Amino acid sequence: MKKRNIVVANWKMNPEMLDIAKEIFNNTRLTAKSLKNTDVCLCPPFPFLHPLLKLNYPKNMFLGVQNISSEIKGAFTGEVSAYMVKSLGASFSIIGHSERRAMGESNEMIRKKMQTAFDADLTPILCVGEKERDKDGNHLEFIKNQIKESLFGLQKKYLVGITIAYEPIWAIGKSYLDAMSPTDIHETVLFIKKIIGELFGRDIALGSKILYGASVEAENVSEIVRIGNVDGFLVGHASLVPKQFSAILKATDMKR
Ligand code: PEP
Repeated sequence: MKKRNIVVANWKMNPEMLDIAKEIFNNTRLTAKSLKNTDVCLCPPFPFLHPLLKLNYPKNMFLGVQNISSEIKGAFTGEVSAYMVKSLGASFSIIGHSERRAMGESNEMIRKKMQTAFDADLTPILCVGEKERDKDGNHLEFIKNQIKESLFGLQKKYLVGITIAYEPIWAIGKSYLDAMSPTDIHETVLFIKKIIGELFGRDIALGSKILYGASVEAENVSEIVRIGNVDGFLVGHASLVPKQFSAILKATDMKR
């Protein structure tokens, strides 16, 4: 079956108020409606999830969260479970974002979150990516290890259509001028697919979706679509700027 592109918006701890969140949501909805080959998933902060889920949106638009607890329920102050967000109507969860890893999330914890997401019927978007690159290729070993440990022991049935967002940490939150080159993205996507193939078999690798994230903006998105070999994007700051995000969505949709 043909794979659809997906663009995931990571709003992080933005915007400050619900009214602005609704405005960004409505602007995104207008563009999402016009897309043919692309799904759009907005991941707002938890408090905005329910009010946004009550609004109308097209069939190719979804809501997700930026994190879930590795636990199902209980005495875990401040945590939010996969089942809670699923019961509201969320469809996706970003898992293992580098900003959460920097707060102490280990691959083992991320593996547990992946399982919890699958159990709650929430689609996880697993984030991987190196802090820095070196000419000896150690960063490739680092990415391989992240994938291996984050998916270790998960049943193969869950991995059909697995979505992995490759986000080189050194390029996050900058401008398109600092993003990774489309050729390097292409190579890394191939590498990730090769690793998935080695670990889980060719079919799982072929069915997987590999997204790129880190400083995707209106200015570099088309080149990455053309050369990067990606199935979509994870977009941070540009997803909060309707004009930018709309351009990113439309450029992604050019890939059939
Ligand atoms: C991110 O942090 O997931 C991200 C993609 O950020 P940005 O687009 O701002 O680099």
